[in-house]
Amino acid sequence: MESIPAIYTSERVALLLPRYQQFVKEHLRPLEQSAIYGSFKAHLPVLGDLRKKAKSLGLFAPHLSVEEGGLGLSLLEFASISEVLGQSPLGHYVFNCQAPDIGNMELMHRFASEDLKAQYLHPLQRGEIRSCFAMTEPEHAGSNPIHLSTRAVLVGDEYVINGHKWFTSSADGAYFTIVMAVTDPDHSNPYQRASMILVPLDNPGYRLIRNIPIMGDVGEDYLSHGEIEFKDCRVPKSNLIGEAGSGFALAQERLGPGRIHHCMRWIGICERVLELSCKRAMTRELNPNHVLADQQSIQHGIAESAAEIKASRLMVLQTAYLIEKYGAKAAKEDISTIKFYVSNVLMRVIDKAIQVHGALGITDDTLLSFWYRHERGAKIYDGPDEVHKTVLAKRIIQSYSAR
Ligand SMILES: Cc1cc2nc3c(=O)[nH]c(=O)nc-3n(C[C@H](O)[C@H](O)[C@H](O)COP(=O)(O)OP(=O)(O)OC[C@H]3O[C@@H](n4cnc5c(N)ncnc54)[C@H](O)[C@@H]3O)c2cc1C
Repeated sequence: MESIPAIYTSERVALLLPRYQQFVKEHLRPLEQSAIYGSFKAHLPVLGDLRKKAKSLGLFAPHLSVEEGGLGLSLLEFASISEVLGQSPLGHYVFNCQAPDIGNMELMHRFASEDLKAQYLHPLQRGEIRSCFAMTEPEHAGSNPIHLSTRAVLVGDEYVINGHKWFTSSADGAYFTIVMAVTDPDHSNPYQRASMILVPLDNPGYRLIRNIPIMGDVGEDYLSHGEIEFKDCRVPKSNLIGEAGSGFALAQERLGPGRIHHCMRWIGICERVLELSCKRAMTRELNPNHVLADQQSIQHGIAESAAEIKASRLMVLQTAYLIEKYGAKAAKEDISTIKFYVSNVLMRVIDKAIQVHGALGITDDTLLSFWYRHERGAKIYDGPDEVHKTVLAKRIIQSYSAR
């Protein structure tokens, strides 16, 4: 986006960003329309070749350490890269830093046993397999994560898992999932009742029931959300990640940096959407002497979107800085603030762009309808906006009671 220059979070990022921008422009943009609105699965071979290309250029998996095959970037540095990759719906996937895999990589890097790392994490980091994360259940409010029915009972050296999950993003085609299951239902602390357990998805006790249609789009493979079932699903006890009962603590660890990744991706989407709006407004003739961009209301909309994008970027980068310097716990309110602020900027920017495009905006002839459908969830996942507003408001109110 030429009109909104990126902020270079380091010298190294200043050198890297143009390379990522070029890759997105040259290799990803031409594929988007067919991969997103056609069969994603049919595009796996070409996307696989692009992953190889990204590796050969030394750009693959920028979030990983150098020893793990990545670039060893800080969270703040990766945030800038994430923004550029977000400008294409294929960006994070091709560079193997897509959710939910990136969250699972971070989690396993910190808390999985060496055996689990060798068998699952390392192939995941190399982009040879995909994974998913199964926490939310259709029967319970996902915004209250301690309310879960899925049980994992220890029988000898195995956990036997029974439960029903949904919105397990990218379950279709994934090699394993990390499931959140109650292991100690009677623990006096409800936050210590659940654990995270790794389940390979060729397990006979696991079933993908369906890919859930999202506003008419069933999706497939990485671009899907699964409803899944565990029925007497047996896995070795050693598939436990972290300690028994540590599930919620680990979920919190997983979510802090994850919100930076999502928010920067959303900012990338906003930039691309603004670019689409400007290009359309400059070429759509209202009459032989005037284009849409001549209208003041259109100009104001573009200015408002640009200002909101800038504000969002500064807010998210500041939060990334705070997480790095003081940890996710200390930055809790900032993390909540960016989650609901940027998700709403995203909604407004996409909606304005659709309006600028007129009827074209609601067709599948541009990327706008894809983002409108699929990013509406941004206000719901990773904690609904209301929950994050409450976190922030409570802290603000408390700060006055102490005076
Ligand atoms: C696109 C997408 C991808 C997802 N991917 C995954 C995944 O990979 N793995 C996974 O486990 N889950 C995933 N989820 C599920 C997600 O985590 C839940 O949808 C989320 O936690 C909200 O739970 P719920 O849908 O059950 O809504 P509910 O908990 O039923 O809440 C419904 C609504 O009530 C309101 N509300 C809730 N709590 C409060 C409150 N305290 N105060 C005021 N209002 C409130 C909010 O408006 C909320 O939208 C995904 C969801 C979406 C949309």
